[in-house]
Amino acid sequence: MTAESRQPAVFEPTTMGELVELRHRMPKATIWAGGTGLMSRYYPYPYPVSREIIHLKYVADLSRISRTERYLEIGAMATFEHVLKTGRHILPPVLARAIATAGPPIISSQATMGGNLCIPDLRLNLASGLSLFSVLVELRGGRSQSIQGRWIPFNKLYQKEGGLQIKETEILTRIRISFDEGDFQFFQHIGFPYRYPNDSVLFAVFARHGDSSVSDYRVSITIPRVGIFRDRDVESAVSNCSLPLTASEIRLASGQLRESLQNYSDRITPIQYARSVRAFERSLSLLNTKVLGR
Ligand SMILES: Cc1cc2nc3c(=O)[nH]c(=O)nc-3n(C[C@H](O)[C@H](O)[C@H](O)COP(=O)(O)OP(=O)(O)OC[C@H]3O[C@@H](n4cnc5c(N)ncnc54)[C@H](O)[C@@H]3O)c2cc1C
Repeated sequence: MTAESRQPAVFEPTTMGELVELRHRMPKATIWAGGTGLMSRYYPYPYPVSREIIHLKYVADLSRISRTERYLEIGAMATFEHVLKTGRHILPPVLARAIATAGPPIISSQATMGGNLCIPDLRLNLASGLSLFSVLVELRGGRSQSIQGRWIPFNKLYQKEGGLQIKETEILTRIRISFDEGDFQFFQHIGFPYRYPNDSVLFAVFARHGDSSVSDYRVSITIPRVGIFRDRDVESAVSNCSLPLTASEIRLASGQLRESLQNYSDRITPIQYARSVRAFERSLSLLNTKVLGR
């Protein structure tokens, strides 16, 4: 086979209808968004076997960002740069931070929201930030060639063990994030999740609190190759405490987190386990510092 015959055929639909129809016809074709993930991990060029690429760039609807009183809606092809610019006054800070640190600055004008969520084997920054909120994602091209989408809760986008859970013919088209205001929001990127997923952890917290109590506490720990961990018991252990938390309350909550993490998956490496616990304890200390500084 010559190098020339190995060039992939690239399809560039311009409407949602064309895209769904193409995807239906070619379920094995590679969906190409910003290409930053594909080029850096999976896609030696020229590709060893001929295959088709469906490039999403020219479907204008996929890059739109809109808002209503209740939610923000972001097209899957909106780039990190565009989202951060357009949403700077409305994105929850924890999510803005997750997006701003999702890769080196050089890729942010190209890398897309959909691309970050759909890397098949890695849960990364955006999934970590979104996991704290009430979020729906729209998928199109499922059963038929109808362009009608189906909205699913964000947590249904992934299997329990972290893998992407969409049908072969489906494309992620929009993300809808309900507005939610928190007093304490924190995102921490520990390690290099993209290059060293077995050592790294993504840690995110959202909380509402007054001077003396927490009314709503959410914490998510993303283990890139495993999935997104949230535990309601750990969350309510913190929500039920008065502020500032005492050292023994922090120890108790931390003990509960350790146990839940151990039960969550045996694929969490020791370094990820240690980093998760440390980040959790640190975030509670930061919450205390904030309350005491008021
Ligand atoms: C050096 C480097 C460091 C990085 N570090 C980080 C990091 O620390 N944290 C982090 O979060 N990310 C990191 N990234 C990942 C970066 O954020 C991704 O490359 C990017 O999010 C992928 O977006 P893309 O638009 O380029 O997707 P693409 O590369 O085009 O696609 C990625 C995957 O998603 C599929 N896909 C894309 N869009 C859709 C869709 N709408 N529907 C269905 N499937 C789709 C593609 O088929 C492909 O499998 C890093 C990347 C690089 C190169």
